[in-house]
Amino acid sequence: MEKENNKTKKVCFPHMGNYFIAFKEIVEPLAEIISPPPITKKTVELGTRYGPESACIPFKYNLGNYIEALDKGANFVIQAGGGCRFGYYGEVQEEILKKLGYEFEFFKFPNDYNFLTLARALQKINPKVSIVKILYSLGLAYFKIRAIDKLDDYVRLNIGFEIEKGEFEKTFKLFLKDLEKDKKILSIRRTQARYLKLLKNIKLNKPKNPIRVVILGEVYVVMEPFSNFNIEKQLGAKGVEVHRHSSLSTTIHDLFFNKRVMKEFLEKARPYLRNDTGAHGTETVGLAHHSAKAGFDGAIHIKPFGCMPEVNAMSALHRISNDYKFPIIYFSFDSQTSETGVKTRLEAFYDLLIMKKQKNEQR
Ligand code: SF4
Repeated sequence: MEKENNKTKKVCFPHMGNYFIAFKEIVEPLAEIISPPPITKKTVELGTRYGPESACIPFKYNLGNYIEALDKGANFVIQAGGGCRFGYYGEVQEEILKKLGYEFEFFKFPNDYNFLTLARALQKINPKVSIVKILYSLGLAYFKIRAIDKLDDYVRLNIGFEIEKGEFEKTFKLFLKDLEKDKKILSIRRTQARYLKLLKNIKLNKPKNPIRVVILGEVYVVMEPFSNFNIEKQLGAKGVEVHRHSSLSTTIHDLFFNKRVMKEFLEKARPYLRNDTGAHGTETVGLAHHSAKAGFDGAIHIKPFGCMPEVNAMSALHRISNDYKFPIIYFSFDSQTSETGVKTRLEAFYDLLIMKKQKNEQR
């Protein structure tokens, strides 16, 4: 009887960047996966139509993903939970979806982040699967996340300088395809090393002192390119070396070592911040201060409209920008944000960075 139940569980979880491959690794041994279609305008329209107006944009994207997956036949929804109001979103999303008439079970990851707690919670999806097996899939997912981030970092720093346009993107797509097939930690490591080598073999025309920009802000809009109109790609096309700390690997690391990490970011953020702002706001300020001191050309701060932790960080960012003559541009995203507006402001920011750099080099 139990087997029957598990057979009929059709699990869905939201998209976030390229991490679907890793999330899939965790769920695959437990139940059938119904993946939401790739994010489009329709996804955010659905989330906006049915979600509360005041909810931040990650809520709306996730809700849209769930609706699209439930329409495809999913009957089991997984939500990640989180440290800010995202932590309460699950219950609200569940209620909205049930009011819309969907029949499904809802599963929220526990906020206590250690592998054993996660594995025990996941086992409730399918008690037939052993804890050891679940722990192993968590391990595989973790190594896949690390591989994606490692290669993504390299691409971000160098894609703006490839001689043959499109080579990075083509190689990265092949890497994701191969990574998806890997079912052992050793093979994940091999795929990572092989593709990193291939990426490093791509011929570049990189100046000695390129424009270096750091991306700061709220993790969802930073990591989901659709939600930020592909800001990193736009910068790459202009020949900018793009740096960013936030990724799923760093988020996982920060969750596991929260106290130490928070202390480090607060130290970096001093004297602009004395207390933690919540979510990733402290990290934003710490990294902005660090990047200004390290001689970066500028920073791009991106956040969902109404995201309090990032709003709290902004006054410190303004002061850092002023004190270090460090240009920072601010983008706020919601379902009404105009792509053209973002593009135009990004171009103006780029022109400003170029002018500033030329002026400094002439001195
Ligand atoms: S960090 Fe901000 S945008 Fe992200 S879920 Fe929390 S409140 Fe919403």
